[in-house]
Amino acid sequence: MSDDKTKNESEATRSNFIRDIIDEDLESGKHDFIVTRFPPEPNGYLHIGHAKSILLNFGIAQDYEGRCHLRFDDTNPLAEDTEYVESIKQDVAWLGCDWGEHLYFASDYFERMYDLAVQLIKDGKAYVDSLSTEEIREYRGTLGEPGKPSPYRDRSVEENLDLFERMRAGEFEDGEHVLRAKIDMANPNMLMRDPLLYRIRHATHHRTGDDWCIYPMYDYAHCLEDAFEGVTHSLCTLEFENNRELYDWVIEATEVECQPRQIEFARLNLNYTVMSKRKLRRLVEAGHVSGWDDPRLPTISALRRRGVPPGAIHQFIDMVGVARANSVVDVQMLEYAIRDHLNMRAPRVMAVLDPLKVTITNYPEGQTEWLPADYYPHDVPKEGTREVPFGRELYIDRSDFMENPPKSFWRLGPGREVRLRYGYFITCDEVVKDDDGQIVELLCSYDPETKGGDAPDGRNPKGTIHWVSAEHSLPAEVRVYDRLFSIDLPESDPDRDYTEFLNPKSLVVIQNARVEPSLKDDDAGTRYQFEREGYFWQDPEDSSPDKLVYNRIVALRDTWAKKEAQMKKEQEKKRQEKAKKEVEKAKKEKKSSQKDRRPSKRPASYYRDKAREENPELAARLERYQDEYDLQYDDADLLSGELALAEFYEAAIETYDKLQTVASWLVNEMLPELGEREIESVSDIDVEPAEVAKLIEAFDNERITNQISREVFGKMLETGKDPETIIDEEGLERITDTSELEGLVEGVIADNPDEVERYRGGKKALLGFFIGQVMQASKGTADPQIARQIIQQKLEE
Ligand code: ATP
Ligand code: MG
Repeated sequence: MSDDKTKNESEATRSNFIRDIIDEDLESGKHDFIVTRFPPEPNGYLHIGHAKSILLNFGIAQDYEGRCHLRFDDTNPLAEDTEYVESIKQDVAWLGCDWGEHLYFASDYFERMYDLAVQLIKDGKAYVDSLSTEEIREYRGTLGEPGKPSPYRDRSVEENLDLFERMRAGEFEDGEHVLRAKIDMANPNMLMRDPLLYRIRHATHHRTGDDWCIYPMYDYAHCLEDAFEGVTHSLCTLEFENNRELYDWVIEATEVECQPRQIEFARLNLNYTVMSKRKLRRLVEAGHVSGWDDPRLPTISALRRRGVPPGAIHQFIDMVGVARANSVVDVQMLEYAIRDHLNMRAPRVMAVLDPLKVTITNYPEGQTEWLPADYYPHDVPKEGTREVPFGRELYIDRSDFMENPPKSFWRLGPGREVRLRYGYFITCDEVVKDDDGQIVELLCSYDPETKGGDAPDGRNPKGTIHWVSAEHSLPAEVRVYDRLFSIDLPESDPDRDYTEFLNPKSLVVIQNARVEPSLKDDDAGTRYQFEREGYFWQDPEDSSPDKLVYNRIVALRDTWAKKEAQMKKEQEKKRQEKAKKEVEKAKKEKKSSQKDRRPSKRPASYYRDKAREENPELAARLERYQDEYDLQYDDADLLSGELALAEFYEAAIETYDKLQTVASWLVNEMLPELGEREIESVSDIDVEPAEVAKLIEAFDNERITNQISREVFGKMLETGKDPETIIDEEGLERITDTSELEGLVEGVIADNPDEVERYRGGKKALLGFFIGQVMQASKGTADPQIARQIIQQKLEE
């Protein structure tokens, strides 16, 4: 195993039920040396599911200072091939697992297996059956119904020996006879109803050639292979649980010396892909992918080619853990592990995937400055810098410029300033377009005082973008991989073939990307982070110094961690809701005239999720509102659940750019108000978002109270007047003037002598009543904080 593994060993792999069994076996003295094996059939390339089995078996051998064998279970000549043997060896070694001299082939045991079969016949435990495959199936019965014995079941030992020998000698056609164990045709476990041990198959084997025309069946061969090799613990996946009885029967009946124990664990399944070798082979053979190592496949060779380091696969398998319950692991967990592994290791460089030319008009022509740039800016103690050339002509990514940006877009736009990573601040002065109106160039000016990213006057643009020098950067092809299937469980539809769900955008090839010149010396093998883009490395097959080709290993965005955080948040929310409900129930018992929160007419969260599923623009907004605008999940969810509302919000923040304040006002004041007014959709209302933004500004600047802001909104809906006019005409500004408030308070005190008396007599809870009265008297304009102080003062007098 690689060092990586030993150092990073996590508890997930260390402690599991298999290790518990082994510990017991060591303690009881049943074993003093542990032997495991990884037993692939060489009928295809290994996939990430196999990695689980490989790391489990080799990991246990390493930790218990035992050994792990690599054994090819090559008992079916029709599907197997040396190409697969070689690829499997390469994959296991690449994962850091070392079988040393313990490389075995089931085919090397054919003679021994044959001898044991002869012995079984002699012992009356096996017989040659001459029923057809079809008949054998019929005779076997069903789950509810016992089978019946074959008419050949009671052949004499001599006849069986003779037939079996002639089977081996090639006297019969495929299917004419089989060798069966003589166990019990009524056994509740169907596998025990005289299972097949050998069949005739005239086929050339990739290792034994035409030496054999009878081949052992899996259930007979596998346990004997384990026994011959002294395997102590034979770990396999859950679908073999029913086979265990037969496994043990063969071991006992053949009286082999070693008695391995079979233990089953759950298969690893991943969503958005398929995992069986057979299904993968179909994708390869039908040309849906470019080969077994197409980086979109879940095969180990594909992951290797894509650039995933073996350590990331270890990390992923550790996260998955070993259990006895089958489940589908989210592919985002794999992506998370890759990202997490690369994050601390990959040097950062700059590459522009969709180049847009920038000319810095006030930068001297012909001048180049080489600016220092850290390889590990996130991890300062780590050494390593290179210099990146800065000149008059640069490329930036097209997506980092917007001609009509909303206020919340912090990158480049006309008249806006951004920081170029490691470079200068630049401001866009002019947009150059071609005849079709396509933007082809930006004319910008730079501030020579801002070299390295700091301005002497402390100016600090919100956006920092990456770039490369037009003259010095290198052209590159970039292959951006996405999920191979567009649905999470491509095999789950009984009426449709999984190939119908292939994702047409699983590979996007960008021909004209530009990478910084330091990558010229990339010795192919370094995984880089292209800043703000993701992790990349040179495609080991197609990249060359003359034509750089980069694969995207994984994107930068960490949606998995976010999802996890969100899940926790939702759980917490549920918990709180439950608690709240209980409190409310208790409250209800008291009389309460007040409605809690007025209902909103917005679609329920289920429909918002649905809307986002159907409309990627809404889905993107949910992300953006959380990540870039820093909104609370609840606000982001509500605002992105309906296009008209999202657009309303975005238009409003163009006028007043306090992103969170606007969001929360819309959610907490506007939506309930709309709900009360039976307005079905935001698009039905005819107040301008800009006007509402002004209203929010007035509230945020404390010119009006919260209550009034909502009232003004209602009046805007009714009258179509702008908020300023309404506030002025109706005198709705917040009253903060103490003498004015004192007047109001005195009035309230005079009007409510009974309450005053009770308050003074100790019923302090009446304070709320007085505040309410003052608010009412002021029509909601009194500053509640100040009013409260004055009320308390006056009542204590
Ligand atoms: P597939 O059905 O994907 O072709 P397989 O089980 O036929 O896989 P083998 O070559 O027989 O493949 O498997 C070698 C070992 O790997 C077996 O012990 C098997 O149990 C294990 N294995 C195969 N698939 C998985 C998986 N998805 N998760 C964990 N272990 C697996
Ligand atoms: Mg198989």
